[in-house]
Amino acid sequence: MPPFPQAAEISTKDERLRGNLRHATHTIRDKRAKAVAELTDWSALRSAGARVKDHTLRHLDHYLEQLEEAVTAAGGTVHWAADAEEANRIVTRLVRETGEREVVKVKSMATQEIGLNEALERAGISAYETDLAELIVQLGEDHPSHILVPAIHRNRGEIREIFRTRMERWGRAAPEGLTDDPADLAEAARLHLREKFLNAKVGVSGANFMVAESGTLVVVESEGNGRMCLTLPETLISVVGVEKVVPTWRDLEVFLQLLPRSSTAERMNPYTSTWTGTTEGDGPRRFHLVLLDNGRTDTLADQVGRQALRCIRCSACLNVCPVYERAGGHAYGSPYPGPIGAILTPQLDSMETELDASLPYASSLCGACYEVCPVAIDIPEVLVHLRERVVQGGTVTVRGQRTTVKPARGHAAERAAMRAAAWTFDHPGVLRAGGRLASRARRMVPRRLPGPGSAWTDTRDLPEVPPESFRDWWRRTRGPGTGSGSARREGDVR
Ligand code: SF4
Repeated sequence: MPPFPQAAEISTKDERLRGNLRHATHTIRDKRAKAVAELTDWSALRSAGARVKDHTLRHLDHYLEQLEEAVTAAGGTVHWAADAEEANRIVTRLVRETGEREVVKVKSMATQEIGLNEALERAGISAYETDLAELIVQLGEDHPSHILVPAIHRNRGEIREIFRTRMERWGRAAPEGLTDDPADLAEAARLHLREKFLNAKVGVSGANFMVAESGTLVVVESEGNGRMCLTLPETLISVVGVEKVVPTWRDLEVFLQLLPRSSTAERMNPYTSTWTGTTEGDGPRRFHLVLLDNGRTDTLADQVGRQALRCIRCSACLNVCPVYERAGGHAYGSPYPGPIGAILTPQLDSMETELDASLPYASSLCGACYEVCPVAIDIPEVLVHLRERVVQGGTVTVRGQRTTVKPARGHAAERAAMRAAAWTFDHPGVLRAGGRLASRARRMVPRRLPGPGSAWTDTRDLPEVPPESFRDWWRRTRGPGTGSGSARREGDVR
């Protein structure tokens, strides 16, 4: 995948994409604001969510072991996967052991993160997505572009065309004379998917939460398709990131209030499915839980960046982000787009690629993402922290080992500018002289910076230099000797 600026340069020129995104994100964000405003204790709930997540992450080893014990006692089998390759190997083996060549899937970000569908395909196993938006993405041979609405970049006309031309290749064809009416499109998907559900022997899911005290997994969704995947097959394999564990049912209560209002602006989630191991005569006979690390414990080692692991994937931050709204989800080159993707992807990947180094810059740092986040992740703080790592390098944890990473390529000018700024702020005389010189030479300041500085001014206006520096203005209006806090306070009293 190209770095974010290159991908965004293409996507921002796509008028139809921008129109689809503008309409969808504005609709969802307005509804969310109303749903949140209904609760007088929203900020207390938000703090409670952040506290529970922080506590769990601090004692992650304890809660994961408790979870493993509870899942095993309930008849399930727990597998530990250090990375994507190991997780894919485990799931492929488990499917092969059933003798099946097809699986049905509940929408799952973790399986997108590890590229499970592609791994299964290489092993000769077909994976069918059953979430409506994921189905649209799969039939269109496309990639998801939003956490909650993966086909947000498609409008109704495009979806009708995808169904009409592609459904037949994957199973039951679209009905004759299909229109772009939402009810018609939903019915076409229902008929197509019903066949899959009734034939499926193996289901693959993710989970929104895992309750350590009982070994229960929880999936929240809006369509009910997920519930069919979770209950009809004989074997269920759930691939879940280790950070999804919560200690108790009581803790779950907080998130089942925070998530629906933040994501779909609903007071309560339409379908909340929970399952604990296996039960004779009810649901899958075999249940496997694959606990996925894939960079999560490395992220946990970073004192600033670890807050990204609180994320409950509600997508509220995407819907308010001005950068996401214009660039679209594909430009982030990851299953996690938008503000959360800009801080999570580089950390999970240990900042290994050019794309990773570009993502912390995919933000205007306006802070809207932090305002709406139901678990109070300070996304701007993490973005700045990661930018520092990109420019300066530093010590990080990679696969459990403390490692020093070099600065990313292409940031030498930024590094030099920051060093020069730090030195100038350390020398007040130089800062004063520089301010005066800039004011006197203001007419000679170009509209565009030359050389590496042009990367900055190509997309921004250079601020105008004022005719007088702030220090000179202060001295002129308040008189000499009024620079200290005490003198100013005395002046205010008089
Ligand atoms: S970072 Fe916060 S707002 Fe964004 S998806 Fe995660 S929980 Fe939701």
